[in-house]
Amino acid sequence: MAKAGKDARKRFKPESLMMSYGYKPELSEGAIKPPVFLTSTFVFKSAEEGKRFFEVAYGHANLDHGEELGLIYSRINNPDMEILEDRLAVWDDADSALVFSSGMAAISTVMLEFLKPGDVLLHSNPLYGGTHHFIHHVLPLWGVHGVAFSPGESEETILQRVADAGAIDKVRLVHIETPANPTNELIDLEMIARIAKKLGATSSVDNTYLGPVFQRPLKFGIDLVLYSATKYIGGHSDLIAGAVAGHAEPVQRVRVLRTFLGNMNGPWTQWLMLRSLETLRVRMDRQAASAKIVADFLLGHPKVERVYYLGHLEAGTAQHAIFQKQCESAGAMISFDVIRGEKAAFRFLNALQLISLAVSLGGTESLIEHPASMTHCDIPLDERAKMGISDKLVRLSIGLEDPHDLISDLDAALREI
Ligand code: PLP
Repeated sequence: MAKAGKDARKRFKPESLMMSYGYKPELSEGAIKPPVFLTSTFVFKSAEEGKRFFEVAYGHANLDHGEELGLIYSRINNPDMEILEDRLAVWDDADSALVFSSGMAAISTVMLEFLKPGDVLLHSNPLYGGTHHFIHHVLPLWGVHGVAFSPGESEETILQRVADAGAIDKVRLVHIETPANPTNELIDLEMIARIAKKLGATSSVDNTYLGPVFQRPLKFGIDLVLYSATKYIGGHSDLIAGAVAGHAEPVQRVRVLRTFLGNMNGPWTQWLMLRSLETLRVRMDRQAASAKIVADFLLGHPKVERVYYLGHLEAGTAQHAIFQKQCESAGAMISFDVIRGEKAAFRFLNALQLISLAVSLGGTESLIEHPASMTHCDIPLDERAKMGISDKLVRLSIGLEDPHDLISDLDAALREI
């Protein structure tokens, strides 16, 4: 560790550590920034050293106190990967973190590690469309089935659903998304941690929408935090990546499976992510501040029927109480129903000049999409209707543009309906 070493985590805020934590300039000719280590493999000092590194990397032995795993091969470790994973762990106050080639790689690897044939996955709905597809079309091929619940359901109702499915002793993973994509509904993290504990299961949370700056699920007893790092962590819509952070033991299990699936990412993407982490806090703060201005504008608009935005939750409601407990900001994701249906929504989307019509979120540019026909089109119509994903719904990710310019663009396009 350089000047900002491990004990710095107790002293400084994550945003203060993103420029130096976990990097020793003296190992790289004094360069202030970590170089991109474009190498596939690393030279061992001795055969004994190589043997020890492999024992630890393959999970046959644990690191001794104070021992660090040496560099082996870039599918297992690489300086860019290690610095990046140490810095990601800082945000979630996690023991360790892992990077992946995509958010789906992170999610699918966690599910494959914790679920075996005959096991049951307890999960919330709605989920990102790709996660929904993996649960409904891939996991069943491996003999794993899901039991779903909705935001707003109580602990008793959820446990009753598990009992009704005959799965009380079969649930091995509880996976949720909060806020949910694209409806912004919240689920109580403490309740999920309690349910997982009662069922003897591991808990995982897709924290892509608010994390890692505005929501820290580990604080509420969750075991693993998952990200599409393509979104806010990458932040510039120029890379695809995923991440997992959490307690040492479950992260180590996921690390070993990653080694054999080989779905980590490479040093160049890792380097880009290191650069992005330096501005994560300022980007997310500014995006959230702009989102509030835009959401308030949409609320009163005659062509908008309903706005789904965390900053508009009413005091006294259960959703507001969850927000107060576990979210540090309303974030920068706004969904809203335009009047009428798909035709009107498409007319509006096609008329935008500044905001780009594209899936994804969390980038420097504002992006808008139509979940029913795009990201969530794979979900059967009746299920989609139950989740509140109608043809009127559009999802807007606020970027770094001037919020008043965004309003001007939205207003002009809404007038086209
Ligand atoms: N989780 C959420 C909430 C997402 O929005 C996405 C992608 O849109 C993913 C996971 C999947 O991430 P990736 O596209 O990086 O595989």
